[in-house]
Amino acid sequence: MFALQGEIALVTGASRGIGRSIALTMGQQGASIVGTSTSDLGAQGVTTALDEAGIDGKGAVLDVTHGDNVVNVVRQIEEDFGPVSILVNNAGITRDNLLLRMKDEEWDDILDTNLSSVFRVTKACLRGMTRARKGRVINVTSIVGATGNPGQTNYAAAKAGLVGFTKSLASEVASRGITVNAIAPGFIETDMTASLEKSRRDELATAIPLGRLGVGEDVAVVAVFLASPEASYITGQVIHVNGGLYMSS
Ligand code: NAP
Repeated sequence: MFALQGEIALVTGASRGIGRSIALTMGQQGASIVGTSTSDLGAQGVTTALDEAGIDGKGAVLDVTHGDNVVNVVRQIEEDFGPVSILVNNAGITRDNLLLRMKDEEWDDILDTNLSSVFRVTKACLRGMTRARKGRVINVTSIVGATGNPGQTNYAAAKAGLVGFTKSLASEVASRGITVNAIAPGFIETDMTASLEKSRRDELATAIPLGRLGVGEDVAVVAVFLASPEASYITGQVIHVNGGLYMSS
């Protein structure tokens, strides 16, 4: 079940956190992995982690806000491994502020890195998937895209935008054998949530019905499932992974 042998997965933002877990878990299921970071050091770290786990693949330097960089990285993957068959749009950042204090750059950076990036990377990979008449696109959105969160108008708007993108593209490419889904994590233990104060983390853990923040693997197993042949009849969906904090209809 859930075997990914022969698949070529591009995971953006795989140097740490959720992306790293997804890259390693997909690799353990047999996929060849290209996992990205914005730095040489981060990309080297991905290569080392894959090597140590005995997984085929490598790290690559990619800034998802640079269109040329995106096109070149995807072209290089096609030359080295073949066309990307699983794309995980995971890279993301936060720049929290109340709207009245939010600077234009804080708004623009979030929309560019978390939403426009997904347009760029997906478009670059879609031609290969369309030719192969198979593919999986998995977009990492957030609980906040569904619930909203004070101080995160920019982030919530980008993540909600990803949901609309996911459903629209799912309809466009279904006839080509390509599925497009989103995963909406709740609060997951990564660098992104490490900056939360301890009192806030304790408060959150109490509010989460399953009693703890999530870990990367909680999200990674869902990504593996959505990428697998067993999920071939699932498209245009948002799968929430949040310990019960938000129960979507
Ligand atoms: P993280 O630990 O902060 O890691 C972020 C990753 O994104 C890093 O690998 C980073 O690469 C990469 N990245 C940042 N800016 C980039 C850019 N411009 N181009 C390419 N890559 C870039 O984050 P995380 O918590 O694992 O979050 C991963 C995804 O899950 C994000 O989309 C986030 O919004 C979403 N999410 C997280 C949570 C949570 O509780 N943690 C909840 C809901 C959704 P570098 O190596 O260069 O730093």
